[in-house]
Amino acid sequence: MSQELLIVTNNPGKMREYRALLSSLPVPIRFPSDLGYRIDVQETGTTYTENATLKARAGVEVSGLLSLADDSGLEVDALGGEPGVRSARYIPGSDADRIAALLARLDGVPWEQRTARFRCCIVIMTPQRELYIAEGTCEGIIATAPAGTGGFGYDPVFYLPEFRCTMAQLPSEVKNRISHRARAVEAALPILRRLLEDADQRG
Ligand code: IMP
Repeated sequence: MSQELLIVTNNPGKMREYRALLSSLPVPIRFPSDLGYRIDVQETGTTYTENATLKARAGVEVSGLLSLADDSGLEVDALGGEPGVRSARYIPGSDADRIAALLARLDGVPWEQRTARFRCCIVIMTPQRELYIAEGTCEGIIATAPAGTGGFGYDPVFYLPEFRCTMAQLPSEVKNRISHRARAVEAALPILRRLLEDADQRG
């Protein structure tokens, strides 16, 4: 196969995860930085799907390659689903600043009301601008203090009762089996395989 798949992200945490999650595909995985591009998309959509579509389309337009983008976020029930689609820019600053702000907003909220989920929406766009969507979620509880150094973003405060630790305390192989992104990729893989085979047959 003489094809490549572009993953439209500059986020080092997502890049690490996609490299592992897509390693079974028979084509090279590329990121914009590998190809000398800088793709910075304004996330002006109001849904994960809209934002992921904006990013995937930018990937196709810049590279002409089959492109995959995700938009993801953390939904906290006690905050009416916030930060949600605004998770990356909820509070200016670092991941640690955003975690501190989230914990402050949940101060005094009892354990059983700290339920939350990560959501990931993947959009795949072909060079012909056909669009495919795959989604995944992962349920957890917002811990009262950060723990662990793995993963990225809100992982240190995302507690998984079945593992008795936070997402940031899980080995990456385990996160890559159970996360929202892992589940979305599981749904995306058959679509990607078919698109790559079809493109290969067309030559
Ligand atoms: P976006 O998809 O680039 O808009 O950003 C998603 C934001 O949601 C990230 O910057 C994180 O704050 C958060 N997020 C998404 N996925 C994860 C994850 O796997 N772990 C922790 N935080 C995440």
